[in-house]
Amino acid sequence: MGDRERNKKRLLELLQAAGTGNSHCADCGAADPDWASYKLGVFICLNCCGVHRNFPDISKVKSVRLDFWDDSIVEFMTRNGNLHVKAKFEARVPAFYYIPQANDCLVLKEQWIRAKYERREFMADGETISLPGNREGFLWKRGRNNSQFLRRRFVLLAREGLLKYYTKEEGKSPKAVISIKDLNATFQTEKIGHPHGLQITYRRDSHVRNLFVYHESGKEIVDWFNALRAARLQYLKMAFPELPESELVPFLTRNYLKQGFMEKTGPKQKEPFKKRWFALDSHERRLLYYKNPLLHQQRVAATAGDPLTEELAAAEHLELLVGRRSSHLGLGCPPLVPCSQQPSLAMNSAKTETVAVAALEPHQLPEPSPPPHPGI
Ligand SMILES: [Zn+2]
Repeated sequence: MGDRERNKKRLLELLQAAGTGNSHCADCGAADPDWASYKLGVFICLNCCGVHRNFPDISKVKSVRLDFWDDSIVEFMTRNGNLHVKAKFEARVPAFYYIPQANDCLVLKEQWIRAKYERREFMADGETISLPGNREGFLWKRGRNNSQFLRRRFVLLAREGLLKYYTKEEGKSPKAVISIKDLNATFQTEKIGHPHGLQITYRRDSHVRNLFVYHESGKEIVDWFNALRAARLQYLKMAFPELPESELVPFLTRNYLKQGFMEKTGPKQKEPFKKRWFALDSHERRLLYYKNPLLHQQRVAATAGDPLTEELAAAEHLELLVGRRSSHLGLGCPPLVPCSQQPSLAMNSAKTETVAVAALEPHQLPEPSPPPHPGI
């Protein structure tokens, strides 16, 4: 066996070696990475490798399977490896900081990788990391009645637990004052049509409302996202002082369990099927549907008559059959009342509705919802 084959075999063994963490990408956790940064000593997936290529001063990459590895680099990889290097570069990641996973969008991974290795923000001997606290700046916000994005000033007041945005210049009252208490932020790049597209969801007057924003700079939008998470953590710590931080972190922001187009008929199941955007939100225990996935706020209220986007609660212990015609979708809690506080879902008729839907493509049933959250 030549050097080339022998070293490739050593690397493949190293990928599986117990106690190294090498079987998952050092940056996003994707299984079975087959690329490596031979300057940093970590094994990474193809996607993260693409980010590493952008800063060759700090990271240099090779394919485990396709490239030639000489003895000295294989030894360097053996001495280092994912767990070893993560301990150094992730020594103190703030609790609020979002660590991306394999299925997250590129901007989250890119900024995480840059923060980690390029800016070295999380190393033990780095500068002291303070809570982002207040934040102010401009974001492009999608207009309510058309698809145009308009430059808007946003102000986050972490201590007060408020996010405000302004349509006019300084001095005018804000267009909206949003409580951090009910806020969620999730990157929705495809839906918004921008690689830095962020959806901010909040409540007002018991309605769920959305803002769709982006910033040209990936760092700026991810910094906003993490600042919102930090403000949420600050609020949750005050609201639930008895709970340890680690139990609050999963509730800072959340992604939809499942979303996409399905076809829906009306309550009598005689109306023609129409294409609607459905979004299943596990923590809210709601299934929302929209005439258009980018509606901001005006369609969410449940009204009798022509309910374009009435809210439906989707509790995990109710029958939830998606993907077949004439199946039933949810009944459940009225808005703002956690299901855990409902004496009986069957008794709750105010919002009960049966909707027949047909999936446009095969959909899997979502995972069961996590346990009740602390009343967010
Ligand atoms: Zn990765």
